[in-house]
Amino acid sequence: MLHRRSTPTPARAPALRSALKVAAYPAVTGGAIAFALFAIARAWPAWLVGVVVVTAASVAVEVLERVIPYRAAWARPRGDFRTDVLHWALSNRAFDLGAFVAITSMAPVGRALAARLGTDLWPRAWPLFAQALLALVLVELPWYWIHRLEHRWAPLWRVHAVHHSSRRIYWWNLSRNHPLDNLISALASTAPVALLGASDAPLALMAAFTGAHAILQHSNIDLRTGPLDVFLATARVHRFHHSPRREEADANYGPTLTVFDWLFGSRRFSKDAEPPEDVGLGGPDDDRFPGGFVAQLRAPFDARLFSDGEGER
Ligand SMILES: [Zn+2]
Ligand SMILES: [Zn+2]
Repeated sequence: MLHRRSTPTPARAPALRSALKVAAYPAVTGGAIAFALFAIARAWPAWLVGVVVVTAASVAVEVLERVIPYRAAWARPRGDFRTDVLHWALSNRAFDLGAFVAITSMAPVGRALAARLGTDLWPRAWPLFAQALLALVLVELPWYWIHRLEHRWAPLWRVHAVHHSSRRIYWWNLSRNHPLDNLISALASTAPVALLGASDAPLALMAAFTGAHAILQHSNIDLRTGPLDVFLATARVHRFHHSPRREEADANYGPTLTVFDWLFGSRRFSKDAEPPEDVGLGGPDDDRFPGGFVAQLRAPFDARLFSDGEGER
């Protein structure tokens, strides 16, 4: 009598998937940190560590979005992929430019200030992880306020609305930002660490963590981050930020940390509530905001798009 080949028990695959949902965030961010430590020991520059980590994390997230998707509907293209790839390839360069301008303008000022004071402005004697944490806080604080201002001041909201125009959340549209949005965010978030003359090693460590975090945060992966949602702006926290309802979207501004949302009263999060199914500007049938790349570059300057008070947030 033939025995049928045993097939995996139905319970095993779901158990594996459940484990992957819990392990994905710590594995990808932990891998990024481990790689950064490896590269720092070999004196790699921070920008190169960032490029390698972001590339590797993007590939991992692309795979995980297929293995453990969060919403099936968000896995289906909505005619938006080309626009998001163009933002990734072109609009992101405005962020690089902003960081470059901040470094080249602020670093000499910091060096002159340090020479006049006769002391180093950056605590180089601190342990590496403490320096990286300081760099993270110094990057996050101005970024938090710029992002908050973008939601509260109509002219800046028109620029930032491009990011909120996505009708689904997947990792490619992490890059859906108007170049002006990227330029302002990069200038503000890079200036303090550039002024203080932060060393390359803590910047590389911070960039590795925040780079991997950002891609996971914007992914369509069913991440189970549990207690991490309290102090990190995880995917679950960020999905509320993309709500079409203003009371949900005008909150949770911190790119990586939630500390400034707690501190300045913009934390809105319930572990029991489900993030919104429809995301974007207006209701599910509101398709006024243009979907094309060039049209999105022009959108902030088109008053008709913001004529119903959408700009007055
Ligand atoms: Zn926003
Ligand atoms: Zn987003």
